[in-house]
Amino acid sequence: MTSPHTYQAQGIAIKQTKFGEADKIVTVYTLEFGKLKAVAKGACRPGSKLGGNVEPPNYSLLMLAKGRNLDIITQSQTIDGFSGLKGNLWCLSCGSYILELIDVFTTEGSPNQPLFDLLLDTLKNLSPSNGDETLLRYFELHLLNHLGYRPQLRRCVVCNAALKRGANFFSPSEGGVLCPGCNRVEFTSRAISIDALKVLRLWQDCNYPTASRVKMSSKLSSELRQLVQEYITYLLQREVKSMAWLEQLRRGITVDSNCGVN
Ligand SMILES: [Zn+2]
Repeated sequence: MTSPHTYQAQGIAIKQTKFGEADKIVTVYTLEFGKLKAVAKGACRPGSKLGGNVEPPNYSLLMLAKGRNLDIITQSQTIDGFSGLKGNLWCLSCGSYILELIDVFTTEGSPNQPLFDLLLDTLKNLSPSNGDETLLRYFELHLLNHLGYRPQLRRCVVCNAALKRGANFFSPSEGGVLCPGCNRVEFTSRAISIDALKVLRLWQDCNYPTASRVKMSSKLSSELRQLVQEYITYLLQREVKSMAWLEQLRRGITVDSNCGVN
């Protein structure tokens, strides 16, 4: 079966790079085809409507033409520009982190509707009135679910024993929780508190409104962040750039309860 010369896709721009004098190569996470790269001609010219429509994290309806190497975006129409997160450094930085995770965890031409829906819902929920880190943890955990890296949190990932209250350990290399007996042979693991285990188990299987109702101390929030991000770093075998930037923001400036930056 031959492909038609032109096709349509709805997608969220996740990355752009300048290409030649006036063009851009845009990486888009689409509902229909997963990640794809295409050329947006003239997108760097001042006032280019196409340039604005493919600016990350814009969600657009795109018309594309098959090209010899890269396909070409011929038309675009913005569906959602996520204006709620623009103009807020913390929210924009969270958005960049989310887009980077999608980029580094996906390959071109592998559609994944649950992952597309998760990305879209997360960007919609990311706003100055919804600025705590639960949204990021929820996104990370469900991204891992949709890509086949769901951590095992119910039983010991090595011996399959039921986990008891008290000392347990999370192992990035085993992809789940170890009982104290199995932790003796594991060097990359870290202790996981019973509260962290409870919250992660809940978040793995609930919807976002339920997840967002969990109230927690900053200590627990920090434990969850470190644990999930260590797992992500292990899977990728490298640091996510925007993860380090978010950490700088956390340390360097005060983020108030409304996600605004003081
Ligand atoms: Zn065990």
